[in-house]
Order: sequence, then structure tokens, then C-alpha cells
Amino acid sequence: MRRLDCSDYDRMIPDFLEDRLTMRELAAFLRHTERCEACRDEMSTQFLVSRGLEILETDRIFDLRKELSDLIELRSTQLRARRNLFTAAAILETGALTAAAAAVITLLR
Ligand SMILES: [Zn+2]
Repeated sequence: MRRLDCSDYDRMIPDFLEDRLTMRELAAFLRHTERCEACRDEMSTQFLVSRGLEILETDRIFDLRKELSDLIELRSTQLRARRNLFTAAAILETGALTAAAAAVITLLR
């Protein structure tokens, strides 16, 4: 995926908050979050508004800033976990191929 510009980012904020981004989109989104202060502010605002409305409806009290940083942390962790899963799958695949090759070699003996 090409680099996100700020308007792409802006459109992706709701999907980020709802956890609907693909792994690639999420990676690009988090990279942009790190380096663009304006978008971080915009994201915080949208997050605060969306969560704020929920909280008004439920009367719960939250530390929203902490919740947002937890959410970003959670998404980063999910991304790392998914990447590790892909790596594990790739290793397993290689392992399976090696096992298949070994079996063929054994049969040919
Ligand atoms: Zn930006």
C-alpha cells in the first residue's frame, strides 16, 4: 500500500476505531499516527467524540486519553501478533516441505 496522506488517514479513522482495517492498512495507519501530529489530534478528537457519546449514554466514567493510548497499543500488539502468525505459518510450510522431501528421499532409498 502506498503511503497514506492525511485525507486517506482521515477516512480510515472510523474503520480503525471499529477494528475494520486490514493488516496492511493498519500498519500504514499506525505509521502515519506516529509521524503526523495533526492526524493524531484528529484521531483523538474522533475517538473522544465517539466514546464520549457512548459514555453519556451509559453513565460510565473513563479516562479517555488512557483508553485511546491503550487502543493504539492494543492494535499495535494485534498487528505484531498477526505478523508473527504469518511468520509461523511460513516456517510451518517450510517445515512441511522439508518433511515431504525427507519422506520422498526415504521412499526412494
Ligand atoms: Zn496526517
